[in-house]
This record gives sequence, structure tokens and C-alpha cells, in this order.
Amino acid sequence: MYNENNVFHKILEGKLGANKVYEDEYALAFYDINPSAKVHVLVISKGAYVNYHDFLNRAAANEVAGFFKAINETVKVLELSEDGFRIVSNIGTNGGQEVPHFHVHILGGEKLGHVLV
Ligand code: AMP
Repeated sequence: MYNENNVFHKILEGKLGANKVYEDEYALAFYDINPSAKVHVLVISKGAYVNYHDFLNRAAANEVAGFFKAINETVKVLELSEDGFRIVSNIGTNGGQEVPHFHVHILGGEKLGHVLV
């Protein structure tokens, strides 16, 4: 069950600021406040979904396609495609998800370690 009392919902409402990279009707991308790589950007859904699983279960096909295209547009803005990058989505307690609003991390700008823990 989605709970509006989370920081990403507040950013979407304009009640909290964010360092924006890209925005369209499906997604908003902004720099992570506590970066885990030289480039660390979050792409969040405009729709109210708890996580990846909830998003794929409930979102319409155009929303799913639009969201993944928005990740790709963000990668272009960040100019990460030539050297490569990583996308990650943490889901639930075991996945280490802190903010219960669907988002994908884009990590890059440097060579990343092979294993994520
Ligand atoms: P996750 O563990 O996948 O839920 O990741 C949540 C991410 O959101 C973490 O990497 C945080 O550093 C980041 N974060 C939390 N609050 C903010 C904020 N106000 N602006 C930007 N990033 C944030």
C-alpha cells in the first residue's frame, strides 16, 4: 500500500527541492543527496507506486514504457552511455529500500565494483 508520507512524494509535490536532471510526464530524475558513485542519479515514477514490483503489477503499459524510456533519456543527459553505467532498484526490506516510492538508481562516472552488497 502506497503511503504519501515519503520524501520522493514531497519532491513530486514541490514541497521539497531536488537537483533535477530530467523530467517528463512519466518520471523525474535528480541527483542522489548521498551519492554512492561519482555520478548517482535517481529516476522516480510520477505515479504513486511503492517499488518496482508494485509498479509492474499496477501501472499501464504506456507508463511502464515511458518510465524506462525516461531512464534512457536521463542516461543521455548525463552522457554515460559510452563508458557504461549501472541501474539498480532496491525493493523492500531485503532489497534495502529506504524510500517507499518506486525509483531506479543510475550509477556511473567511474568504474564500479563488481558486486553490490
Ligand atoms: P533506496 O535505498 O533505494 O530507497 O534509496 C533511496 C535513496 O534516496 C538513497 O540513496 C538516498 O541517499 C536518497 N535520498 C533520500 N532523500 C533524498 C533527497 N531528499 N534528495 C535526493 N536523494 C535522496
